[in-house]
Amino acid sequence: MKILFSGISKLYGTSRQVRFGSQMDEVKSILNASILVENGRVLAVTSEDISDQADQVINLNGAEVMPGFVDSHTHTVFAVPREEEFVMRLKGASYEEIAAAGGGILNSAQKLRRTSEDELFDAASVRVRNMIAQGTTALEIKSGYGLSVDAEIKMLRVIKKLKESFPITIRATFLGAHAFPKEYKEKTDDYVDLVVKDMLPIIAAEELADHIDVFCERGFFSSDQANRVIEVGAKYGLPSKIHGNQLAVSGGVQVAVRNQSWSVDHLEHCTEVEWNLLKNSFDEDGNGTMPVVLPGVSYYLDLPYAPAREMIDYGLPVVLATDFNPGSSPVHSLQTVQSLACTQMKMTPEEAFNAVTINAARSLRLEDEVGSITVGSRADFLVMNQQNALQRIPYYLGQNLVKEVYIGGVKFDL
Ligand SMILES: [Zn+2]
Repeated sequence: MKILFSGISKLYGTSRQVRFGSQMDEVKSILNASILVENGRVLAVTSEDISDQADQVINLNGAEVMPGFVDSHTHTVFAVPREEEFVMRLKGASYEEIAAAGGGILNSAQKLRRTSEDELFDAASVRVRNMIAQGTTALEIKSGYGLSVDAEIKMLRVIKKLKESFPITIRATFLGAHAFPKEYKEKTDDYVDLVVKDMLPIIAAEELADHIDVFCERGFFSSDQANRVIEVGAKYGLPSKIHGNQLAVSGGVQVAVRNQSWSVDHLEHCTEVEWNLLKNSFDEDGNGTMPVVLPGVSYYLDLPYAPAREMIDYGLPVVLATDFNPGSSPVHSLQTVQSLACTQMKMTPEEAFNAVTINAARSLRLEDEVGSITVGSRADFLVMNQQNALQRIPYYLGQNLVKEVYIGGVKFDL
């Protein structure tokens, strides 16, 4: 059954090419376009009339269309929101004071341990639906609020169930090395042992994760500890992503490049030394460590933004993600993130668009599947409710410009 989506005034994102540096300001698009879809995949993209090839024609009546957004960094599975910490911060409490009052990652961990798999799944399902309504059709979700063997596995099983329950593309990341549980505060290497010797073998055997991640940060996991987690993960066939350089120049970029990690995420604190390492990480086939920036965190915590403008000017292929989590970035909309990227980090709308589509797909090595509307890619696309939508997304902060979401060529019931 071949379905033709016709009457598209402008189709954005018609190239699978990862965008580096100045290329990020260009978005490939086709005017008066049609998309031919078969078995959930794009069979043809054209501005010619090919309605004779289709079994069914769906006329989109002059709407603009873009590929579904790719959110490459989220913590979507958590027990409950932490708005009380948000209010404490507004009233001037410091990170340490919030932690002392039982807040932070350990707060989420404690609550998650007491929440059942079904409850976690139900709560996360609502969030995933909300994300799809905002245009996200490919999503990475991390563990990391378990911090014990049982609770980490519980989280990853919830992510597995989300994969089976939603038609969108979901990838799971094992982030057992997110923080040190209280009982390991004085013996952090023992917790690293727990991650690599007790958690990893079970996770690998049950195939619960697609990648591994470490919070390589001042006061959290050292570069040596991060290297160890990543190296053992690699033995189990798990490619890595790193949380690094959020609170300080942490060595996270060095760990990521040394281990050929697929991405290093945060980068609020980095210099030309780190940009140069990242740039040199790319081989001639374009394999390298993608820099992922998370402006939601800077917005909520009132911290400096990652130097995305400088990194693009330096020639890097920047990615944007929500970092959706209950503590530092309760933002689930990549439309909002595009707006923050433009107003706070001086990215152009075109750069922000590429950073949440093809570049984001590349950071998950999924660029043949998602992030563009090209022959062979999944037919995951958004029908927009306005013209010039690419620029109006960052312009209309807080407005949802997505009218309809098609996943594998099938309209998702929003
Ligand atoms: Zn994160």
